[in-house]
Amino acid sequence: TKFEALGLDKPLLDAIADLGFESPSEVQEKAIPLLLEDETDLVALAQTGTGKTAAFGFPLIQKIDKDSRTTQGLILSPTRELCMQITNEMQLYSKYVKGVHVVAIYGGASITEQARQIKRGAQIVVATPGRMKDMIGRGLVDISKIDYCILDEADEMLNMGFYEDIQDILSNTPKEKSTWLFSATMPREVSAIAKKFMHSPKEITV
Ligand code: AMP
Repeated sequence: TKFEALGLDKPLLDAIADLGFESPSEVQEKAIPLLLEDETDLVALAQTGTGKTAAFGFPLIQKIDKDSRTTQGLILSPTRELCMQITNEMQLYSKYVKGVHVVAIYGGASITEQARQIKRGAQIVVATPGRMKDMIGRGLVDISKIDYCILDEADEMLNMGFYEDIQDILSNTPKEKSTWLFSATMPREVSAIAKKFMHSPKEITV
């Protein structure tokens, strides 16, 4: 299969060509058409290094409304490093798509500066759970209108003790949205989150 067959728009295919990705990885081949076609919840069992960032990143970039600067997509990830890495990848993926703004929210850096970036308007927010919860509590970010919520490395986030924070964050999101959960393993806590916050998710395993 080629990327052209997955339903991605030309600006995204151009970015893929620049990145030198020749063909989609297994998780991309399975997830991208599914996420582009339907508004669906998804549970994807995939390790790091399988290309999962692009598997959720390309559909998210294609689906958001670029004419609005309202926050539409929230990506939660376990660590500051991963958060910055995802943000960087999202910026590369959207280089030929006009008007896409991605902001990273993580601990150990100036909350004032992050709040300033949020205030300017970003459709996509990539965050660690602790800082996200903090900023919601202070009214510095509004996720009440998001359409897409991505939980990346869900098992890692729960291992790190973010169960409460994730519940808290998800309870600030609208009921009507799509949730895409990526995890390398499916321990009980991950199933519990899926059961509580997701609606008959499609499942893929790679
Ligand atoms: P991830 O699993 O998202 O952390 O991605 C692992 C690495 O693979 C990243 O450096 C990506 O840039 C790269 N990558 C993702 N998709 C592809 C692809 N289809 N072909 C080649 N490299 C890729």
